[in-house]
Amino acid sequence: MYLSIFIFLLGLVVGSFLNVVILRLDENYPIKGIMGRSHCPNCKKKLNWYELIPVFSFLIQRGKCRGCDTKISWQYPIIETATGLIFLLTVYSLQFTVYSFLNFETFEYLNLLYLFTIFSTLIVITVYDIKHKIIPDSMVFLFAGLSLLFMLVTQWGNLIWFEVLAGPILATPFAVLWLVSQGRWIGFGDAKLTLGIGWFLGLVDGLSAVILSFWIGSVFGIFLIILSHLQSLSFINKNFTIKSEIPFAPFLILGTILIFFFHWDVLGIKLLVLNL
Ligand SMILES: [Zn+2]
Repeated sequence: MYLSIFIFLLGLVVGSFLNVVILRLDENYPIKGIMGRSHCPNCKKKLNWYELIPVFSFLIQRGKCRGCDTKISWQYPIIETATGLIFLLTVYSLQFTVYSFLNFETFEYLNLLYLFTIFSTLIVITVYDIKHKIIPDSMVFLFAGLSLLFMLVTQWGNLIWFEVLAGPILATPFAVLWLVSQGRWIGFGDAKLTLGIGWFLGLVDGLSAVILSFWIGSVFGIFLIILSHLQSLSFINKNFTIKSEIPFAPFLILGTILIFFFHWDVLGIKLLVLNL
């Protein structure tokens, strides 16, 4: 229980940091680097420590800046809570208890740190892609590079070749789609992302994640179309249009996270591959 609370609070703090990273990855943002003091983007009021407590500050201030009453985006508490929950899931998936946590081997700490870093980069990519319709290179290369490095280190001496090829295999169709459509259907960022997904999950789980993300994306697309029809029926909001360009990275990442934690055999081929 104490461990759960500790990990969740750690996730909230990291999530709060990720919000800052998302903000300052944007080249147009006035403050460079991630070390400068946080401030209200409207009235430039510098934030005190009690205005920087994840989730709680937002709730206490009822989502408004204390200086100018400007509304603070729901993005902040949502990202913080999501990071907390994903960190908790990570710890549960590795079946940690307080006892095992305190008696860890160095490798297990590194494994945990690795997963926390991976999920942090994925959270940043998701939000950044939704906001700016582009995947930041620094984040996607960190994700792909770290996944490859971790695979090489943990499988050293016993390297499975199709796991190493999983990244390029998954990324190739996306790169081809990007090339054929000249970037109209998907961005090249999606290809770089699937490269990382292949290395992070391996071939079978990686394929499952990509297919699952297409399913989720389709359901979401159908939902949007129905919604737009409902909207056009009402006379209130005649100008409602769907943006045709829906970022795909959030679906890929949602698929990746679900497959990582639940290992669904979307393709029904796991037994087949294991028997090879
Ligand atoms: Zn303000």
